[in-house]
Amino acid sequence: MKAEILAVGTELLMGQIANTNAQYISSKLPEVGLGVYYHSVVGDNPDRLQESLKLALERCDVVITTGGLGPTQDDLTKETIARAFGKKLVLHEESLNDIKSFFIRVGRQMTSNNEKQAYMPEGCIILENNNGTAPGCIIEEGSKTVIMLPGPPSEMKPMFDEAVMPYFKKKSKFLIESRFLRVFGIGESAMETLIMDLIDGQLNPTIATYAKEGEVTLRVSAKIKDGESADSILNPVINEIKERTGECLYSDADQNLDEVAAKLLIEKNITIAAAESCTGGLISEMLTNIPGISKVFIGGAVTYSNESKSELLGVKKETLQKYGAVSCQTAAEMAEGIRKRLNTDISVSVTGIAGPDGGTAEKPVGLVYIGLSSEKGTITKELRLSGNRKRIRNVTALNVFDIIRR
Ligand code: ATP
Ligand code: MG
Repeated sequence: MKAEILAVGTELLMGQIANTNAQYISSKLPEVGLGVYYHSVVGDNPDRLQESLKLALERCDVVITTGGLGPTQDDLTKETIARAFGKKLVLHEESLNDIKSFFIRVGRQMTSNNEKQAYMPEGCIILENNNGTAPGCIIEEGSKTVIMLPGPPSEMKPMFDEAVMPYFKKKSKFLIESRFLRVFGIGESAMETLIMDLIDGQLNPTIATYAKEGEVTLRVSAKIKDGESADSILNPVINEIKERTGECLYSDADQNLDEVAAKLLIEKNITIAAAESCTGGLISEMLTNIPGISKVFIGGAVTYSNESKSELLGVKKETLQKYGAVSCQTAAEMAEGIRKRLNTDISVSVTGIAGPDGGTAEKPVGLVYIGLSSEKGTITKELRLSGNRKRIRNVTALNVFDIIRR
């Protein structure tokens, strides 16, 4: 079955907000066996909405709209779609009572235009809104289904999860289940070569790769019919991919590299400190985003200048003079310095040139050294990264987490 997501709202066309509703709905529909074929956006204009709806119904079986269910003049989705189907809007008493009690609950005065939200296309299935005033609805007409959802994501998402997904689950002859495998240290094209025969050879499950900032995510999706087990279809392929990617595969549960590294530290109770130059605190920031990290993350220092590297971390002046701030020697002394000062089991350090300026022929933009120090000794790694300042900093941080988890 083909689906189209039709977002209604002039603010979307003006670029004031991004169409995150379509993204959210799209990410979920495959699970219930619906393929999303089109995203479209139309302003708060009844003629153009009607035109868009007509086109969507010509090319798809299911059309899901978001937005325009509110109480104001420009909220016209329900009226326009009901008219297109030749349906009247009729008062739905239960929805009216829900709207009344919503206003009592939030302590606000209900205005008469809110009543308009309780008028629903005749014969539709009503979708309750527990987080706002506008109910959603489903119109089934012949082989076509139109679903109208409110615009605010805080209302749309729960309605979609609690009512729309179960509605399709009941109808679907099969479900699609996806697992996400995350790989670091193998580029996208190398990855594709590595598993090309698996991608080519298989219809169920299917494998898709996508790359982002030095990482590759593999999506393995299987069509599961009634009575079949997802594991028995997915696991053979997943195990084969695990075998081929080895240590580079760091999560089979769609976790981020920083989460995986941090969880490992927490689990093993290994305390850590960070000394950062070109990442400017990014590693500490990412670590402290993870709940429970206080058990093992002791602290960090942002040492941007040579002086701060010497004074706060004890990096030797001779080291800085002889090898420069961006060198494996400096990275090693930074890591050792913070580990001794904060008395941790391990420590990490970063020093590099994030650009766009500051590179030389010998030390180009993107040259980064990271250090990892522990009781056993200190290791360093040289990275030669490409991209803009933001990417260089992000990929550096990912490399640090990759070293930690290994
Ligand atoms: P309301 O009762 O708030 O008027 P509504 O169903 O009429 O709800 P809209 O008026 O179209 O919805 O949008 C209300 C708000 O919801 C927008 O200002 C925007 O913040 C958010 N919103 C609408 N559509 C989208 C979308 N496609 N993606 C993300 N956010 C959206
Ligand atoms: Mg509105």
